[in-house]
Amino acid sequence: MKNIIYFLIAIISIISCKSKPAKKSFSNDQFLSVNKQTIKKIDVHSHYRYSREYLSSLYKKWNMQSVLVDVSKEDSTGITRSWDSYLVNAQTNPDLFFLCSSLIGSGIDLPDFVPRAIEQLNQEIDSGARMVKVWKNFGMVTKDATGNFIQIDDTRLQPIWDLLKNLGIPVMAHIGEPEQAWRELDPANPHFGYYKRNPQYHAYKISAIPSYETIITARDRWIENNPDLKILCAHLGSMSHNVDMVAERLDKFPNMYVELAARFGDLANQDSEKVRAFFEKYQDRIMFGSDYGNSRPEDVMTDSELYEEKMDLDTSYDGLWKYLSSTDSLVVRRQKTMGLGLPVGILHKVYFQNTANFLKLE
Ligand SMILES: [Zn+2]
Repeated sequence: MKNIIYFLIAIISIISCKSKPAKKSFSNDQFLSVNKQTIKKIDVHSHYRYSREYLSSLYKKWNMQSVLVDVSKEDSTGITRSWDSYLVNAQTNPDLFFLCSSLIGSGIDLPDFVPRAIEQLNQEIDSGARMVKVWKNFGMVTKDATGNFIQIDDTRLQPIWDLLKNLGIPVMAHIGEPEQAWRELDPANPHFGYYKRNPQYHAYKISAIPSYETIITARDRWIENNPDLKILCAHLGSMSHNVDMVAERLDKFPNMYVELAARFGDLANQDSEKVRAFFEKYQDRIMFGSDYGNSRPEDVMTDSELYEEKMDLDTSYDGLWKYLSSTDSLVVRRQKTMGLGLPVGILHKVYFQNTANFLKLE
C-alpha cells in the first residue's frame, strides 16, 4: 500500500512538473528545429579575432552573423587591442561580421586625450565600426594622474559621448563585474571558474577596487546624463544575478538596452517563470550575445583542433538556443533549470531585430 501511495505521489509530481511547460506549447522538437533555421540571428557580442573556413557554413546553418567586439585592455606593457585583427577578419568575411571599436581611459589627464580618442574613433567608424565598447577597466583598473579610478561618468569623457551621439553610434558598456566578484568565491556560482583563473578581477580580495555599488551607480549616472546616447549594457549590465535590478534600470533609462553574453548561468540560477516574464516585458530591449570567439590563427591549428573548435561552438550555440526556445529541463553552466520557451516573436526580436534596429543594419 505504502509503495502504491509513493508511486501515485511520484506520478502526480511528474504530471505537475510537466503540466506547466505544456501550457506554453512551444516545445516540440520539430517546431523548434524549423525555427532554429528560419529565425535570423546576430550574435551582438563575439570575439572572432581570426578567420575560419568552417565559420561560413556553421553560421549559414545557424542563419547567423555576429559583431566582432574589440576590447582595449591595459597591463604593465601598455594598452593592447585586437582592432586590426577584427578589421581584417570583417573585411575578409563581410557577409558574416560587423565591427565594434573600443575606448580606454588611460592618459585621461593628457591634453591630447580627447582629440586623440576622437581621431581614433572617427577613423574606425569610417572603417565600419557601428558601435564603441567600453570595458571594466573603467571603474576597476585604470587610474588618472591623481591615483583615482576613472569611473565611466567622468566629465572628462563627455566630448566623446557628444561625438558618438552626433554620429548616431551607440556604446556597448561592460562596466563592473557580476556581484560575485565582490564576494568570497562560491564553487556553485557560475563565475567561480572565471575568478579562479583571473584573480586580478576578484574585487573581494583587492580592497583598492571600488565597491560594486560605486561602479554601478557611476554607470547609472552616465546613462542618465546622456539620454540621447544609446547604451547597450553588456552581460545584462553586471546585474545578471537578479533580473529585477536590470528591470529597474530599463524602466528608468529609455536609452538603455542589455545583451546576454556569458550570463546564461546567472539567468538559469533564477526562476524560469520570472526570467520568462522579464523577456516578455523587455522584449524590445534585450539582445542575444555569446562572448564566443577565437584567439589563434587558423594556420597554427591542426585539423582536429579546428574540428573540435567548430563542434564546441555548434554545441554551445545550441545550448543557448535550447535555453531560450525550449521548455526542456536543462543544465546551463552547471545550473539546473527549465528552458524559457520564448515565443517565436520574442526569439526573433532578441536574436535579430533588436540588434538590427540598434546598429541600423537594415
Ligand atoms: Zn566579451
